[in-house]
Amino acid sequence: MKHVAIAIDGPAAAGKSTVAKIVAKRLGFVYIDTGAMYRAFTWYVLHRGLDPKNEEASCSLIPEVRISLKEDGSVFVCGHDVTRAIREPLVSSNVSYIASYKGIRLALIDLQRELGEKDNCVMDGRDIGSYVLPHAEVKIFQIASVETRAKRRFLENQEKGIPTTYEEVVADVKNRDYIDSHRDFDPLMQAEDAIPLDTSDMTIEEVVDAILRIVEEKTGVKACR
Ligand code: C5P
Repeated sequence: MKHVAIAIDGPAAAGKSTVAKIVAKRLGFVYIDTGAMYRAFTWYVLHRGLDPKNEEASCSLIPEVRISLKEDGSVFVCGHDVTRAIREPLVSSNVSYIASYKGIRLALIDLQRELGEKDNCVMDGRDIGSYVLPHAEVKIFQIASVETRAKRRFLENQEKGIPTTYEEVVADVKNRDYIDSHRDFDPLMQAEDAIPLDTSDMTIEEVVDAILRIVEEKTGVKACR
């Protein structure tokens, strides 16, 4: 079988990673969470006592930052297991500043492309179809209303024991969307050949089934149950 890449992009908390993980498992593909890489970098900047709003200071860490995504979904940066810590509100509210710095993006995009070329993959993010993997066989742009997204993320935080109010989640989602779509280099945008999918009124299973149907149509690859 020829190498197949599936790009799933969209705004914050649109449910991309939940869906991408299941789609990858059903296809037997590797799942690559690019948001986790930007989050891990942000965690490291904070860990080193630097200000993520300071581009020069944040970029000075590029040579020393080593990020790895494990098969079980855990995330490591320079030997620290940050799987849980990268979901904390302090990381969420700072990650879009880090993701707006060109130097950091280019370093992480190199890593994403390297991982994406190795195996058949499902990669989710903001710029996968438009910039990271422009030749991906399938490109999905997953959207949902701000209210739906904030509600989903709020419930997810509650399940994980991450303390946030609904209002804080709404503010975070709006702020990240704004910064992500207004940065100069490589902003959040729908690739011309991406298929839009509004998941506001869909269950996770319905979204997964819709994507798997598109994958089969475009590539002939069938999912297992
Ligand atoms: O996907 P997730 O919400 O975990 O991503 C966290 C942040 O990382 C996003 O708000 C965005 O600022 C940044 N990001 C990005 N490009 C990607 C993936 C994530 O700019 N491909």
